[in-house]
Amino acid sequence: MEPYGSPEWPDPYPPPPYQQHAKPPPRPPIKHSSIAAILFLFGVLGLVCASAYFSGELQQFWSDSTTQSQAPRPGLVPFGQRQDPLPGFEEADAPLGTPAPLQRTSTSYKFLAVKEDGTPLAYSPCRPIHYVVNADLAPTSWYSMVEDAVRQASLASGLQFIYDGPTSEIPTSNRAGYQPTTYGDRWAPVLIAWTTPEQVPRLTGQTVGLGGSSSIGLSNGYKAYVTGSVSLDAPQFAGIMDSPQGKEVGTAVIMHELGHVLGLDHVDDPRQLMYDQASWVREYAAGDKTGLAQLGSGPCSKDF
Ligand SMILES: [Zn+2]
Repeated sequence: MEPYGSPEWPDPYPPPPYQQHAKPPPRPPIKHSSIAAILFLFGVLGLVCASAYFSGELQQFWSDSTTQSQAPRPGLVPFGQRQDPLPGFEEADAPLGTPAPLQRTSTSYKFLAVKEDGTPLAYSPCRPIHYVVNADLAPTSWYSMVEDAVRQASLASGLQFIYDGPTSEIPTSNRAGYQPTTYGDRWAPVLIAWTTPEQVPRLTGQTVGLGGSSSIGLSNGYKAYVTGSVSLDAPQFAGIMDSPQGKEVGTAVIMHELGHVLGLDHVDDPRQLMYDQASWVREYAAGDKTGLAQLGSGPCSKDF
């Protein structure tokens, strides 16, 4: 048993100066040209470790800046001219998996965003979450750590993940959710990248990782995450790997960031992996799992 206490590695989850998440400005009326009036609400990727990350910089990107007088029916706009993928890609009729049964429930979890009906903003459980990894700056054992972290997130949520292979994509704060030339006619896969504070300024300081997702909102009220990213501070991560139990800690950091990607916020409870400061927690705990189980039980839709 290891006590909670001062870690020997740099604090991966520094206590943020807590600030309320910036609320997006009122939506302008928008007319969508391709996919059944999708309002594409693309927030800054990486909702994150430092709550301050939200402050004042939540950006919105509307996929549709042009308004056409006669919107073509979905599917009739040729690939290469659309601003969103064809809807329904890989969406099944029922969830692809179910969350692992909870040994014990806990109220020690919090969602990054809750919809008007009180349920959390989440990915559709009826389609797989694809992910790619930019491991150019990663430690040599990155693959097994990512695989382990993804497996744990999948177990707890029931969401299914598919590894699409390596990428050279570098994380940015305004990553496009649809990158057809790079990833084809679908939402861009979740990007897991080892990077630097030079590339991702929000990693400056003690923050070792950032994670979050971007969502769409349909005119019928349906909302879901469509893609996300995890940015890991490669120099700090290397320091973690050099510490005792480095691999376990590194995996826990990735799991924490994947928790953000799937929709979990920080909790003020050092027993949970979603605690915002360094602790000895290495696995999803009861609160994390209770939250992830709900995040894996969202509604499906073929309309995006
Ligand atoms: Zn965090």
